[in-house]
Amino acid sequence: MGLLENIKGGIEVIQKSDNLDLVKQMMAIQTDAWTMSEENRVLKEENNILKEKLKIKEKLIYKDNSYWMEEKGNVPEPYCSRCWDKNQNAVHLHLCGNPAFATCPSCKVQVQIDPDYKEPKITIPNSKSKWSSY
Ligand SMILES: [Zn+2]
Repeated sequence: MGLLENIKGGIEVIQKSDNLDLVKQMMAIQTDAWTMSEENRVLKEENNILKEKLKIKEKLIYKDNSYWMEEKGNVPEPYCSRCWDKNQNAVHLHLCGNPAFATCPSCKVQVQIDPDYKEPKITIPNSKSKWSSY
């Protein structure tokens, strides 16, 4: 039996004694135990979330304006550094049309994840081209 069940059993025994003050005291203890049990459940949940974030933090490597994490031997994937640094949310970056850039679906920041990428040179035709008369 757990704490709450034990208290409930104790209240049932005390109720037979016709001691109203004792019953009230035991019911107050039951309420406190219920509150503590709920707080304990919430703390366990928060603890599990923090443990998971700690595991992620140990795997993240900052490189090329984003965090990278390798999962089970797969190719490392980029995560948003803004979302991680601000809220410890590991958000996958999504590749844009240009594979050198990625966007965070959460905060919408755009990151150049390939440092070797060079903008293509655009040559402007000179004014003496055959199109200049138009
Ligand atoms: Zn983000």
